Amino acid sequence: MLVDTHIHLDDKRYKEDLEDVLNRAREAGVNKFIIPGADPSTLQRAIEIAEKYDDIYFAIGVHPYDAKNFESFDFEKNINHPKCVAVGECGLDYFRLEGSDEEKLGEKELQKKVFISQINLAKKYKKPLIIHIRDASFDSKEILLKYDASEVGGVLHCFNADEQLLSLADNGFYFGIGGVLTFKNAKKLVNVLPKIPLDKLLIETDGPYLTPTPHRGERNEPLYTILVAKKISEILEIDENEIKNITTNNSKKLFNIT
Ligand SMILES: [Zn+2]
Ligand SMILES: [Zn+2]
Repeated sequence: MLVDTHIHLDDKRYKEDLEDVLNRAREAGVNKFIIPGADPSTLQRAIEIAEKYDDIYFAIGVHPYDAKNFESFDFEKNINHPKCVAVGECGLDYFRLEGSDEEKLGEKELQKKVFISQINLAKKYKKPLIIHIRDASFDSKEILLKYDASEVGGVLHCFNADEQLLSLADNGFYFGIGGVLTFKNAKKLVNVLPKIPLDKLLIETDGPYLTPTPHRGERNEPLYTILVAKKISEILEIDENEIKNITTNNSKKLFNIT
């Protein structure tokens, strides 16, 4: 058994063959899927998919790249939907800031504001957070602690291997590991992996992005969670089935699914 805790099934790249994508994964033992919210314009599609299949759940969130769309988005409309298991992905991403220094500062401030709003919504509705952090570890950690996000906990999805974030394990946060672990240049993540407590480890694909080796260059899909589990098992020298069991139990606990 395996859970893909971060798979953008509402992406147009799965539109043509979603049924086949899901069946390939299910046959390999991947039997739960969580669609994170990122772009409000595809939320309806995510809800439709989650309503159609018992083993698929969704989250509601606004990605830091879409922070400017947060104000106009009716966030609370679907948050009590029985298949909505989390708030996110939300967080901070300073990787692609553009414009003058002043504009970059303004964008950072907007991202922070939208992140804090989503933490408050997660606490209001008692849902865990799916957190996206890129080139913004310090500010993200500070906000998570200052606004008591540990009340609901969450996952640092696509964990960036930054050691300063490891202590968040003690505050109820999990670490999402995906295809990046299989990349040739993933030395940092390979080294930090044994430092993550086993009861805080989750597996994800982040498909259609970040396809693991040996499929790089192709579309990623939930089937490939098995490649991530295999790689984790090799690095930690723990039996593959045990890794699958542990991460599945962690996923069920965090997202409150059975
Ligand atoms: Zn992300
Ligand atoms: Zn994502």
